[in-house]
Amino acid sequence: MEQNIKRYRGNDNSFDIVQKIANLGYWEFDHGSNQVSWSNQMFCIYGMDLDFVMNQEHFFDLIHPEDRERVKRHFFSSVEQKKESTSEYRIVRQSGEVRYVLENLTIVLDETNEVSLTIGTIQDVTETKNLEHRLTVEEQHYKSIFENNPDAVFSLDLNGQFMSCNASLEQMFGYARDEIMHGSFHHFVEEKCLERTILHFEDTVNTLTPQNYDTTGITKSGQIIEVNVTNIPIIVNQELIGIYGIAKDITQKKMVERSLIESELKYRSILDQSIVGIFVAQKIRFVYANDQLNKMLSYDTLVGLEVEKVVHPDDREAVVSQVMQLKEGEYLPNFSHRAIKRDGTVIHCEVHYNRVSHMGEKAIVGIVMDITDRNKAEELNHFLAYHDYLTELPNRRMFEEQLGKQLKVSEYFKQKLAILLIDLDRFKYINDTLGHPVGDALLKKIAHRLKSKQREGQVTYRIGGDEFAFIIANVQRLSDVTDMADQIIHLIKEQLVVEEFELNVTASIGISQSPEDGCTVESLMKNADAALYFAKSRGRDQSQSYSSSLNVQSFKLFSLSNDLRKALDKKELFLHYMPRVHAQTMEIVGVEALLRWNHPDWGLVPPTEFIPIAEETGLIVPIGEWVLREACMQSKRWQNKGLPPITISVNFSVQQLLKQNILQTIDQIVAETGLSPDRLEIEITESSFISNEKIVTELLLELKKRNIKVSLDDFGTGYSSLYLLKRLALHTIKIDKSFVDEMLTEPFNKSIIQCIIRLAGELNMQVVAEGVENEAQFNYLREQRCDEIQGYYFSRPVEAESIAQLLKNKSLMKPVSLSHSKQPVVNRRKYFRIELKHCLLAEMTITMFKGRSVRLGSTEVLIKNIGPGGLRFMVGVKLPVNSDILLMFKTQIANQLYVLYGIIVWFNEVEHDIFEYGVQFQLKEKEHNELVNALNILAIKQRDGVMPQTQIYVGDPILRIKELKKLN
Ligand code: C2E
Ligand code: MG
Ligand code: MG
Repeated sequence: MEQNIKRYRGNDNSFDIVQKIANLGYWEFDHGSNQVSWSNQMFCIYGMDLDFVMNQEHFFDLIHPEDRERVKRHFFSSVEQKKESTSEYRIVRQSGEVRYVLENLTIVLDETNEVSLTIGTIQDVTETKNLEHRLTVEEQHYKSIFENNPDAVFSLDLNGQFMSCNASLEQMFGYARDEIMHGSFHHFVEEKCLERTILHFEDTVNTLTPQNYDTTGITKSGQIIEVNVTNIPIIVNQELIGIYGIAKDITQKKMVERSLIESELKYRSILDQSIVGIFVAQKIRFVYANDQLNKMLSYDTLVGLEVEKVVHPDDREAVVSQVMQLKEGEYLPNFSHRAIKRDGTVIHCEVHYNRVSHMGEKAIVGIVMDITDRNKAEELNHFLAYHDYLTELPNRRMFEEQLGKQLKVSEYFKQKLAILLIDLDRFKYINDTLGHPVGDALLKKIAHRLKSKQREGQVTYRIGGDEFAFIIANVQRLSDVTDMADQIIHLIKEQLVVEEFELNVTASIGISQSPEDGCTVESLMKNADAALYFAKSRGRDQSQSYSSSLNVQSFKLFSLSNDLRKALDKKELFLHYMPRVHAQTMEIVGVEALLRWNHPDWGLVPPTEFIPIAEETGLIVPIGEWVLREACMQSKRWQNKGLPPITISVNFSVQQLLKQNILQTIDQIVAETGLSPDRLEIEITESSFISNEKIVTELLLELKKRNIKVSLDDFGTGYSSLYLLKRLALHTIKIDKSFVDEMLTEPFNKSIIQCIIRLAGELNMQVVAEGVENEAQFNYLREQRCDEIQGYYFSRPVEAESIAQLLKNKSLMKPVSLSHSKQPVVNRRKYFRIELKHCLLAEMTITMFKGRSVRLGSTEVLIKNIGPGGLRFMVGVKLPVNSDILLMFKTQIANQLYVLYGIIVWFNEVEHDIFEYGVQFQLKEKEHNELVNALNILAIKQRDGVMPQTQIYVGDPILRIKELKKLN
């Protein structure tokens, strides 16, 4: 049915306005005319122009195809049934847009009850429809959030009763939803936590703010679960109607957390209680520091402080540059630097730095040890290693190290360097007589004196017991050094008061300088030592420098002093025994044990040479003990052979007497050897009492108690008072050889001897005369009723076997001829010899000693004869027959200087301590020929009585030698 739709024209404009407001369109269908009329709003709803013309079919076409048939059916059924109806459907606008509309149909009937008019209203409900749709979707969303949430989600009313819950809650607590709904949440909370949980719930209710808290839940089966709960107020229309709850099961997480905390606590306690300081620093600040580090640096906490603040300013650069360079994972172990405590004190640390990542950021972990004490201990150790504990002066080790260094410097700059070795004279004596505390105090004072006078840059070293030393670099003249040595000698000589003693100490100084006297520490020391010995041998209290002064005698003493230490061990020491003869019966009543040293280079060394060395070095104590034991044992051996008992006398040095346990030593040796004490005599000298009177007096009394005899040796050479003799428990007096020597030539000595013998008789003491060499002396002493005689007249000191022989024969002692030992030595020689009327003077020195060249000063000798093969000379020094010692002689013959080398092949003791030697030359052919020529001239001149221009000595050579000895 093709019909035009007529436009409805209302009479009232307001009709349109109403429709517009309500978005409601109005239409009529006139069944009679088959006419459709639309209101304006209809056009609006359909999105059409007002002038659009259409019929009813058009109208249906505008309906969404999916709804069209339904709407048609609906329309026609309403008309048929003459019933109002409502339907909802979609229309499609011309633009294609789909809109929802709600249509109401009303049927108007005519008089015949036939349908005349259908009236409809169409309301555009698209917006509402969309909203509805959106709400449905949203609801779905929320529902799935609610239902499918793995956390338990629920709502409670204001009394805490469940209004809703999701499946997770059911699962979590093991209840069915029915069991949960309308029950209280209280059943779900573990009793201990309930009160707290209710409080949280109430907080949400009261404050209308969400609450989040952890609590402990309990399931239907009674299992405990940890939950984290969030309570959110449900506010509808600004009114609180309930509480949403979200509960997360955090049991697992809590467990992990707990174990983390536990392990964290463990680590923390390790860190906190660690005895080392530990820190973590990030950027430039501490982010963690353990207690130990806080304590170490005296801070309450270091956290937040800049690391640099605690590093010593001088070490900051090193710390920053080295630590900052570390890459991740790298470490810097045992880095030592200083740190500053809060109060400003400096400590020494050893830090182990490690670069790590801390909470995702670069960090430095440090392990810190306070090594201040260790450093101090190290410093102390270093100090102790290089210093002497008594005087705190640098010690020998330091001296040698420094000398080594300075020698290198001197060598480089071609400078001279000298060392001074200062040795206190007779220090041992002071130490032994006044005691070690006085000795120590004395050393300290001397050290202080030396130190206070040392020049700038100069160091005083204590290199041994009483030895001090200086190193003098860049020496211009030797005289500078000797001047300094003299000053030191004067300095030491100034009187010292130690405790109550006023001491006058002197010192001897040995000087050696490089390069002349050696270029190594060893050689310089050795030569300074040699010079020192020379200074000592020349009477002490002086300085000597090696190169200019050392002569054969001092060289010998020096080398002896080096070797004496080992002599005992090497069994080079032995005893000779000298008989003491009864002046009336001529029987041997005793022997004196006399020490001998068979030195490998110097031959038999007399005790007068090495006993002073033993005393100076203190070696006399062990050596003396050995002598006593050996003498006692020997005496016992003689007795065991059935020989008649005799007294054995042993010489004791003062140091032995003053040795603390000397009595025990003597007792022990006597007991050990089984010698009857009254067969032992100890010889002491007068010097033993000086300043030790009390100790020695007591000792003598003790010896007397034991029946051990004591004799006073060398009587007359000291200053013993007669009073002293009386007080001492002495058994014997031994008159010194010097008295006996001059007894018959000097009437005064005669009367002294008479006096001594008489006095001794009155004091009930025995008298022994020593050094009796001839019959006249013997006769006189016998006349004077001297008790015993000891001297070459009867016997020289001999070995034990000879004594046994003498004792065995029981023969009375017969005087021996002294001239026997002085028989001229007959030498076979190839060459002629010139026996000189006047001795030729020569300078003699040792140039080679055991294959090593030595540089010594020279000693004057007197040549008695000379030939191309050798010479004979005299000197006051005992030299050995030893081909390892090459001598050099310098002499002038007919204005010409000759240097001659040779070795000693024989010797003869002309007089006590004056010797004659035969020398075999060791010359090259040229030297030999030159010498032959010179000797020919000399021989001719001597024959002609012409005095050659030669160094000669007119007079008795022995006198000359004695004179020289005095000079030295
Ligand atoms: P002394 O105790 O006065 O010993 C006597 C010294 O005079 C011995 O010298 C002896 O050989 C020497 N003599 C004795 N009669 C004569 C004589 O008629 N003519 C000559 N020219 N000399 C004679 P010796 O053996 O060289 O001893 C020297 C000193 O060495 C001893 O003097 C003694 O003081 C010391 N001495 C020796 N042995 C020891 C010892 O074991 N211990 C200690 N502390 N000193 C000792
Ligand atoms: Mg003696
Ligand atoms: Mg004597």
